[in-house]
Amino acid sequence: LNGNKDSLSNSDREIEKALRPLSFEDFAGQDKILENLKIFVAAARLRGEALDHVLLHGPPGLGKTTLSNIVANELGSGIKITSGPVLDKPSDLAGLLTNLDTNDVLFIDEIHRLNPIVEEYLYSAMEDYKIDIMLDSGPNARSVQIGLNPFTLIGATTRAGMLTSPLRARFGINCRLEYYDAKLLTTIVMRSCHILGTPVDEEAAYEIARRSRGTPRIANNLLRRTRDFAQIKGTGRITLAIAQMALKALDVDEYGLDEMDLRILRTIIHKFKGGPVGITTIATACGEEGETIEEVYEPFLIQEGFIKRTQRGREVTEKAYKHLGLASPNQTGT
Ligand code: ADP
Repeated sequence: LNGNKDSLSNSDREIEKALRPLSFEDFAGQDKILENLKIFVAAARLRGEALDHVLLHGPPGLGKTTLSNIVANELGSGIKITSGPVLDKPSDLAGLLTNLDTNDVLFIDEIHRLNPIVEEYLYSAMEDYKIDIMLDSGPNARSVQIGLNPFTLIGATTRAGMLTSPLRARFGINCRLEYYDAKLLTTIVMRSCHILGTPVDEEAAYEIARRSRGTPRIANNLLRRTRDFAQIKGTGRITLAIAQMALKALDVDEYGLDEMDLRILRTIIHKFKGGPVGITTIATACGEEGETIEEVYEPFLIQEGFIKRTQRGREVTEKAYKHLGLASPNQTGT
């Protein structure tokens, strides 16, 4: 139930597809980003040019892929979708680039995980719409330059800090997606229920929303499971009682913290006296990848004030002790 999009069943995937907004109009929140993108898209259309390259960054599930598809739709352009780790060799990239029509969008998810050799090829493609490819090998090897149609690269990353500076410098538009507040997520849940034909009470939608870690993907995931409860344990309508029952069964706590969030907090408290402690040490103690903790869990825990980042590592806050029902060492000291 976390931000992971690879763990969906087929029917869930179908539902996820149906819930995906297709236009700027349907996309809730991220107002500033949307306002700017609307202008840039309109201007590019007016001039008949490709939109400048766009970098979208922020934690998983906030709408980077969705927004990229919307931008292509609003440009009236086609979109090709790939991801950093999939582009193994320069020829993989060349194959995609040479198949783009004029002003199309190429979306590269997890762009911070591009192979450095492939990344080099991207530079001239982004800058001059040209790539050099090697033909043959050995003594017959020669490089030929291929002209590309003008295109827009949209790169998405959960780790803007891991992008090399030459790559980052080639994006003219840089957007950081923020977590959604509960009110916005409520409108997203209500809209999803409407599309699914599931009756819902607004207070129930709000309950799901406020416990979704500020993330639309999680809100929709929780909604799908709550809908199962409503159909099997209730009348089909998602009421507050049904939502509370489902969220309890799914182990989602009052703040929307899931099992790993809680494990991180408890680990810092019990094993490291509340911190400060380094992320790698936390990761090892929790049995999770450091990268996942840094990308998925930590940003939300920091935003909600359960953890703070200090020079010497991560520390839990009063709020974390309180939430876990534990006495804070600072309280006993004063
Ligand atoms: P990311 O690429 O950032 O990991 P996605 O674009 O895949 O996130 O979004 C996950 C899901 O959340 C989408 O399928 C979509 O249904 C929903 N979603 C994301 N952002 C919004 C939004 N602003 N309004 C409505 N639904 C959204």
